[in-house]
Amino acid sequence: MDIFKKFNYGLKKTSSLLSLNLINSLSNKKIDNETLEEIESILLSADLGLEITNILIKKIESSKINDPKDFNLILEILAKELELILKSKEKDLIESNDKKPTILLFIGVNGSGKTTTIGKLTNIIPKNKKILIAACDTFRAAAVDQLKTWALKQRVDFHQGAINQDPASVAYSASLKGKNENYDYILIDTAGRLSNNTNLVNQLTKIKSIVSKNISNECIKTILVLDGTNGSNMVNQVDIFSKVINVSGLIITKIDGTAKGGALISIAKKYEIPIHFIGLGEKIEDLYKFNAKFFAKSIIGLDN
Ligand code: GDP
Repeated sequence: MDIFKKFNYGLKKTSSLLSLNLINSLSNKKIDNETLEEIESILLSADLGLEITNILIKKIESSKINDPKDFNLILEILAKELELILKSKEKDLIESNDKKPTILLFIGVNGSGKTTTIGKLTNIIPKNKKILIAACDTFRAAAVDQLKTWALKQRVDFHQGAINQDPASVAYSASLKGKNENYDYILIDTAGRLSNNTNLVNQLTKIKSIVSKNISNECIKTILVLDGTNGSNMVNQVDIFSKVINVSGLIITKIDGTAKGGALISIAKKYEIPIHFIGLGEKIEDLYKFNAKFFAKSIIGLDN
């Protein structure tokens, strides 16, 4: 399936809801206060947030479009506005000038899709690169096994510690191995739930600081993985994690199964953090480079 079709398919739920509702509420009506209020509630229901919704409503008002046959133009204007907000967030995660080894440190709450995303990424990183996957969620045997299965399937090397071993010490030995054995990328999975937030935060900062003893900070990319079905709660997660660790990029998963993809636009507006990839399914090939134009059009329900 080509990427455009897949992208639209992935956002089908969001886009069909939004566009159908928008078109219904626009059809054969004047753009009066009542219609604008209706549109406002549709945009809010897609988790676009109040700020973005207000921007879009103002755009509709200032367009002065009022002939029902031109209403498709309104959708175009809205998509363009969203694209403008998202455009600066497009950024490759795997870059040609990445130093050897580069650490990709994956953080995020349990179930957000870290392990699956790591598996998918091994399929995206060029085949001539040497990859090491390190399992640092040492408290969950199942998480280690799940990661190991991906590593075996993708034929990349795997590093693990003992169950309940200090995750930072596993990350340390993985970074040392990566450095001594000439790896290009070390993908580190971390725990997403400890008994409380303070423990989680302490652990992540400890991992980062201990790893930077072997690998310089500029070669460590910290990727926050967010579950797209969480909608506006994703914004809270960015808030919490970015306060304690320098988040260098975002990956949003499960966009295929949600009508809440709009929250991503609030995140793009609020934070200067790039968005690298979008997860559109559970299979290895279901990870797509984030593209502002496709995303904006899909949210509004326009064909790419
Ligand atoms: P982790 O706890 O953060 O490592 O999360 P997992 O990688 O174990 O993912 C949790 C669940 O979400 C698994 O059942 C995955 O198959 C599923 N998942 C991950 N990414 C996606 C995605 O993009 N789309 C869908 N539909 N499911 C996903």
